[in-house]
Amino acid sequence: MERLDRFMARANAAYYATHDPYRDFTTSPEISQVFGEILGLWAAVVWEQLGRPEPVLLVEAGPGRGTLMADALRAIGRVAPAFRAALRLHLIETSHRLRALQAERLPGATWHDGLDTLPNLPVLLLANEFLDVLPIRQFVRRGAQWFERYVEEGRFLEWAVRPPPLAAGDWGEGAEGIAIFELNESALAVGQSLGSHLSTRPGAALFLDYGPEHSACGDSLQALGNGRPTDPLTSPGSSDLTAHVDFAAFAAAAHAAGVAIYGPLAQGLFLTRLGLFQRTDRLARTQPPAQAAALIESARRLAEPDRMGRLFKALALCSPACPTPPGFEA
Ligand code: SAH
Repeated sequence: MERLDRFMARANAAYYATHDPYRDFTTSPEISQVFGEILGLWAAVVWEQLGRPEPVLLVEAGPGRGTLMADALRAIGRVAPAFRAALRLHLIETSHRLRALQAERLPGATWHDGLDTLPNLPVLLLANEFLDVLPIRQFVRRGAQWFERYVEEGRFLEWAVRPPPLAAGDWGEGAEGIAIFELNESALAVGQSLGSHLSTRPGAALFLDYGPEHSACGDSLQALGNGRPTDPLTSPGSSDLTAHVDFAAFAAAAHAAGVAIYGPLAQGLFLTRLGLFQRTDRLARTQPPAQAAALIESARRLAEPDRMGRLFKALALCSPACPTPPGFEA
């Protein structure tokens, strides 16, 4: 019997160590090169806003195949050569299989298992679909009774807990019946750690991920294996386990550590404000009709509300001295 978060951490570590995740799912940087370009230029503008600190860390958490960062660096090199010269590339990645792929596309990077070993310098951090893979705990309330979920032989077991590990008010006190609550302690630790880093050094972090705008109850654990949704509890290590990001809880953890919060803002709005369609049109004009149509279709997929434009959100954490970062203007 294993607590759900420990089960999920073990399953994902095994999955990312042995699988090519892009056979099972695709992500925004793999859909359009403009995604990484926009995030790279976002970092370049924030670097200017911070007064061009040098050297500065450009960090990505969970870089996958390295596509986002390769697109970002190409755009930065063209548009912001001074930032390109000032930055040191650091990657947070636990999978050695993916580190090898990243090394091919991002020579000269330095790798870390977590945030704690980053050098003590100004930082600009980017992360797409990183928080959603971090392990969650699940609590079930049946009437006045609380239970925590454990996994045994492909099934959930529930153990009574009293009291649950958050204040009752945080869990929607007073509602009747059965409700499931999720707690992502690893994500909260990332928020706290970045929050304290950014409250004492200039910098900013941009997270794109999926989840509701406000904390919500419900079971959001899901598994993708062999390109299809599968049961998250059977055959750990053969599928990618994710859960919705609780942006409000993550932002609160970072805010308590001393940073300013911007968003969460719908991904479609964020990318559109930063020129997704203008840049896509410019690229499309250089292409034959079929490729041009595919480029425009991929931008729509990222931005349209009923596709990835609304469920995905952008959230920025900024050091207190930083003005409003691009895309988050009121
Ligand atoms: N950002 C990429 C990949 C998303 S998949 C993209 O948009 O395509 C999640 C990434 O996080 C993978 O690179 C995976 O190996 C990495 N990862 C998973 N768990 C991690 C952890 N606990 N710490 C650091 N990286 C992790």
